[in-house]
Amino acid sequence: MNLVYCDRDSNVYDHPNFISCFRQGRSFCRVDKEDLIPLPFGSFLFSLPERYPVYSLQNSQSQSQSQSQSQFKTLTKIKKEEVWAASAFVSSGYLRTYLPAFQKKENAPMLTLWGYSGVVYDRDEKIFKVPAIRIDQDPRSDPQIHQNDPELKKKIIEIKKIYPKNRLVRQLAYCSTEYRCLCARNFFLGRFEAPIPTTPWCNSNCLGCLSEQKNSKIRSSQQRINFSPTPEEISEVIVHHFKSAKDVVASFGQGCEGDPLLRGKDLAAAIHLVREKISTGTINLNTNGSLPDMVKLMIDSGLDSIRISLNSLNEKYYNRYYRPKNYTFADVIKTIEIALNAGIFVSLNLFFLPGFTDSEEEVAGLVNFLEGFPVNMIQTRNLNIDPDYYLDQIGFKDDLNPLGIRNLIKLLNKDFPKLRLGYYNPAVKR
Ligand code: SF4
Repeated sequence: MNLVYCDRDSNVYDHPNFISCFRQGRSFCRVDKEDLIPLPFGSFLFSLPERYPVYSLQNSQSQSQSQSQSQFKTLTKIKKEEVWAASAFVSSGYLRTYLPAFQKKENAPMLTLWGYSGVVYDRDEKIFKVPAIRIDQDPRSDPQIHQNDPELKKKIIEIKKIYPKNRLVRQLAYCSTEYRCLCARNFFLGRFEAPIPTTPWCNSNCLGCLSEQKNSKIRSSQQRINFSPTPEEISEVIVHHFKSAKDVVASFGQGCEGDPLLRGKDLAAAIHLVREKISTGTINLNTNGSLPDMVKLMIDSGLDSIRISLNSLNEKYYNRYYRPKNYTFADVIKTIEIALNAGIFVSLNLFFLPGFTDSEEEVAGLVNFLEGFPVNMIQTRNLNIDPDYYLDQIGFKDDLNPLGIRNLIKLLNKDFPKLRLGYYNPAVKR
């Protein structure tokens, strides 16, 4: 499995003699062939600026990481030209199991908000491979089903004509064409899960917030919605989506907004308006779970499912990542308790980072939580952030023998057979 690297113009090469290495947390490792899958369609390759690739001359993972770190080598130049490490961003629905291995230069800029995975080149099969698992078979965001721009454009014109004054429809049209948001595209194509962004503010200040980065060296990757659609505009969009197909979902709480609980009263009013008109379809809330009373209000109004995002079940790591304002970790747990007691479908949106999420401390925290709070599902998300920045900011000290992401998935399947693992909000009946 050959080392993949880039030149400074981002051309990608494989090295004939060097074996690609990976990372768990900050520690280098090798992986076995069985850990690698062909690079999924729609994935991207990224160069890692001012970071040298790390390689090995041996093929398999034969020693523990703590014993073998000295055997990893750094490639700095090829034919006197400096080289950079390469990585992959895997399509949605896939969970990465190892990070790319690199040695940072002193002047290395912080990486932008993407989920970086290791990547290799298989010379026998002549394809790139990545350490990843297909965690959800649902095809809703598979890039293959989004190669349909002419059909999308026709649908946008059609739906804008039906709702000429609805600002949320206009916003989704912009998102589906300018940002190529696959969720927004699904709204116009009348299928799967429609995004319902509503809220320009937030009461967290996450290190990896995709929609707002204040006083930070990172740029947010999306623009936050800058208006507040009314309950009428919101319900119009949801009712339209629910009429378009069976088993569809409408979700508050997208990557392009703040936290929808800050508009809980308006959203509860919108849910009432929807349920006066249609009883099918799943109304879902993606949230930081910070305001349990608002969650209760929305459940009483007819919310069908909730997904609470977390980077860790350990409060210290949660606080260092979310940097909550005027709420506590205990409020998030209370929200989960309220949702479970109300009998709605409850998911965790758990941000995975190899070497951290599968560390002994994190696995113990997760198992302990699941024993007390039997949530229905964990959506296993690749955390989009510079791994070094993340680990340093949350103050994580490497576990030298992490369980491994694949083993963590196996453990969850075995010890919690009723727990569903996946990537997307499913259609559920309340
Ligand atoms: S909860 Fe969501 S919107 Fe709020 S800061 Fe965190 S990532 Fe951003």
